[in-house]
Amino acid sequence: MASLTGGSYPPSLDKPHELERLVQTAKDWAIANGLAVRPPPASAGNDEEGMLATMAPVTLFPSPFPKSCFEEAKAVQTQYNELYARISRDEEFLGHLVQQVAGGDDFIDSLWKVHLRVKEEGYVQNLTLGLFRSDYMVHQDGNKLQIKQVEFNTIASSFGGLSSRTSLLHKYLAKTEYPLLGNPIPPSSLELPENRSTEGLAAGLAAAFHAYGKSAYGYPTCVLFLVQDGERNVFDQRHLEYAVQNAGGDEPIPVFRLPFSQVLAHTQLAPSSQRRELLYRPPHNPALAFEVAVAYLRAGYGPGDYPTSAAWDARYQLERSNAITCPSVLTQLAGMKKVQQELATAPESGGEPPALRRFLPDSSDASALAAIHRTFTNIYPLDASPAGLAARAIATDPSQCLRYVMKPQREGGGNNVYKSAIPQRLSTIPEEHWGSYILMELITPPPATNTILRGNGQVEQGGVICELGVYGTCLWDRETGKVVHNEEGGYLLRTKGDQSEEGGVAAGYGCMDSVRLV
Ligand code: ADP
Ligand code: MG
Ligand code: MG
Repeated sequence: MASLTGGSYPPSLDKPHELERLVQTAKDWAIANGLAVRPPPASAGNDEEGMLATMAPVTLFPSPFPKSCFEEAKAVQTQYNELYARISRDEEFLGHLVQQVAGGDDFIDSLWKVHLRVKEEGYVQNLTLGLFRSDYMVHQDGNKLQIKQVEFNTIASSFGGLSSRTSLLHKYLAKTEYPLLGNPIPPSSLELPENRSTEGLAAGLAAAFHAYGKSAYGYPTCVLFLVQDGERNVFDQRHLEYAVQNAGGDEPIPVFRLPFSQVLAHTQLAPSSQRRELLYRPPHNPALAFEVAVAYLRAGYGPGDYPTSAAWDARYQLERSNAITCPSVLTQLAGMKKVQQELATAPESGGEPPALRRFLPDSSDASALAAIHRTFTNIYPLDASPAGLAARAIATDPSQCLRYVMKPQREGGGNNVYKSAIPQRLSTIPEEHWGSYILMELITPPPATNTILRGNGQVEQGGVICELGVYGTCLWDRETGKVVHNEEGGYLLRTKGDQSEEGGVAAGYGCMDSVRLV
């Protein structure tokens, strides 16, 4: 098998003092530059005031990544943005897929109902903002390397704030530390691309903020970050917040953080106004009132954020308000794995997938369609359709299932079922609900090695698997389809030990990394 770990890169650091020195330098740089998270609850016992920060887990070297794959993933992002803007506007398409999964999935069903309720009274805000992240792994097929999409995130796409800092950490180490190793790495041998993920995402939020315009009542306008209680990844969000404030130049854009659980306590719709402006009164000074221009959800993506019906009322309040939601309920639903499966499923006779053609029908869309299609791997429904029945046969066969991952319609990591565990899991689910899942071929990246420094200081050396995420920001009009803003917004590289199936950093599996183009 071809390996990305050519020659002596990255070095194995078998001299203890070399490892120690690199670890110390990385730890200090990370804290000094905000490449940090809150400590896990177990070690935060003495941090009731929330004063402590600990470094985010990182690799000590940027992982090798094929340049052509990196460039392809970046280049296709604005086309993906537009595709998902179009999907978000196609209620018939989404409704049909929701129907297929909702029987076995109350969460998706509840989201859809929020949309229907708002639709009935009429949406007042036509603009929707997407801060997207399209995730890929490099698939090795013989000597051919090709990016294959893992998933497309349409809600709470995280790590943009820490990712640009990880790139800076590796650039710093490349300049100051790697040349001093026993096997020195000359800086000129490392191609480390710029990564403006923080500014990229902030530009999307700022575009929506400006597009909202002024308050008809003379309130100052603001961006509201809706966050989870007890969020550990708070500095990632803070970096983004600072960048949004900065994007206002001399007039900083007001940004507030509000736990999603507090939406009903601290926001209301402007009384007796047809436009349902969303007003926010900061708890520290309720005499102040801001009109929310952008409601940015870093929460609300999974059932855990909706413990009571009040949480659904909160989501409904955001959705029916005049605030530009990031994302709307429909855009969140566009991120269902079921949508990705539908886009990727070609007719039995071969050719391009009809769902992809539905959204990219014109000759002017042809190159986008081809570029997007290239990034797909095989994904199958598990419903009672002919394709679904064929996939069921694979998923329940102990030898065939080893090449697959089964996914429910969930976000945030830790929800998938891998390989040999699939048949057993299916046996616990009533067959009429199997259609709520999709079956996806495993992507197999070429072998690579690196050294991971965990947040608790533990060091792991060995085989790794990398997942590239490319951010995209898109602002569009749900009525007219006009795209007001569409940009690629930097990248994320997450790396995990090659024995781990899941890759999420926040979920505790992966770590932050950056690319060394090869
Ligand atoms: P989530 O929305 O929970 O992040 P993902 O689809 O990204 O769900 O799956 C979580 C993780 O599982 C990924 O980060 C990746 O490490 C692994 N994974 C998912 N799909 C595949 C696949 N087709 N091949 C290999 N690994 C996968
Ligand atoms: Mg996801
Ligand atoms: Mg993911």
